[in-house]
Amino acid sequence: MHPPHRGPDRADPAGRRLASPVTGLLGGLAAVLVPLRCPGCGRDDVAVCGTCRERVLGGPLRRRVLADGTLVVASSPWRGPAAGLVGALKERGRDDALPVLGLALARAVAGVAWPAEAADGAADGVDGVDGVDGVDDGVPRGGVLLVPPPSSWRSRRARAGARPAEGLARSAAASLRAAGGSVTARSLLRAVRPVRDQAGLDRRERSANVEGAYRARPLPAALATARVVVVDDVVTSGATVLEAARALRAAGADVLGAAVVATA
Ligand SMILES: [Zn+2]
Repeated sequence: MHPPHRGPDRADPAGRRLASPVTGLLGGLAAVLVPLRCPGCGRDDVAVCGTCRERVLGGPLRRRVLADGTLVVASSPWRGPAAGLVGALKERGRDDALPVLGLALARAVAGVAWPAEAADGAADGVDGVDGVDGVDDGVPRGGVLLVPPPSSWRSRRARAGARPAEGLARSAAASLRAAGGSVTARSLLRAVRPVRDQAGLDRRERSANVEGAYRARPLPAALATARVVVVDDVVTSGATVLEAARALRAAGADVLGAAVVATA
């Protein structure tokens, strides 16, 4: 009898022995019904484990200033569970990684838009997002608008219809609204020429790949006074964030900075 097919996210660690044919059968059924390993660390039978969640959401916010002065705030370093969670979402469609990544992005957005409140809450991880009380006080007009970069053409081909950065932006906006913030997400950027996935390109190639490649639609009237935060999963060279901020500013947006799940 052949074992049930197991995909890459539910493979047993090599050599794990099952105690009996009955537990083997039950174990096989469980693997089919709950086909999960933590995408951050590989732990069996959990969507995203508490340790990885804490590592992505619990550390201090990380701040970088790019060449044009744009502030970038990240929730965690790229090395560690963040890379596994983002990879699981983008490459394997693991939507169970989205809530944690959305919270991580929300935390980084708070660090850009409401730095004092975010600093107070940073030590408490998830509570750092929940603790952004009275954020409307810091938004006299228009609220905060999250804008992801457009998907690269290659990743759109790889997963038809999948736009991970947009899903992250919407998830982060929902978390911040639940915490009392006036926050929404819109995909206002498009690529005006083909852009390759930045992965695998060196710093100079990344810059050339995206420079002048984006164009922003005019802000909708209801969002004309919004403060804009560029959002993405990871910042490496910063080229994508720089181009997104440039295009949005060219369209008249008030860009506060950028927020990302992780910084490489
Ligand atoms: Zn884990």
